[in-house]
Amino acid sequence: MTKEEALKPIVRKGKYPTKDASIPHLGYLNSLYCPVCGKLFTSFYDADNLPNRSDGYRFNISKEWNYCSRCGQRIDFSDYQHERDLKTADDEVQLD
Ligand SMILES: [Zn+2]
Repeated sequence: MTKEEALKPIVRKGKYPTKDASIPHLGYLNSLYCPVCGKLFTSFYDADNLPNRSDGYRFNISKEWNYCSRCGQRIDFSDYQHERDLKTADDEVQLD
């Protein structure tokens, strides 16, 4: 295995689903970790990663994020990098 190979992040599910009655049922918290050094990358709830949610939201990782900032290991986030119909250029700051 070389350092050039992209590895999938480790996924750990929370012990219990969320119980807050004031919010829609979100399910379990999922946390993504670096498989080499253990750095926590990000977390999302089950309900945040469902396709076709009524409000249109879906957990998404930028296609530009593809390595661990601590140890440099390439990471394969493709399971969380969904195609979106956004005009990304409009979101970017124009620098002079
Ligand atoms: Zn790492």
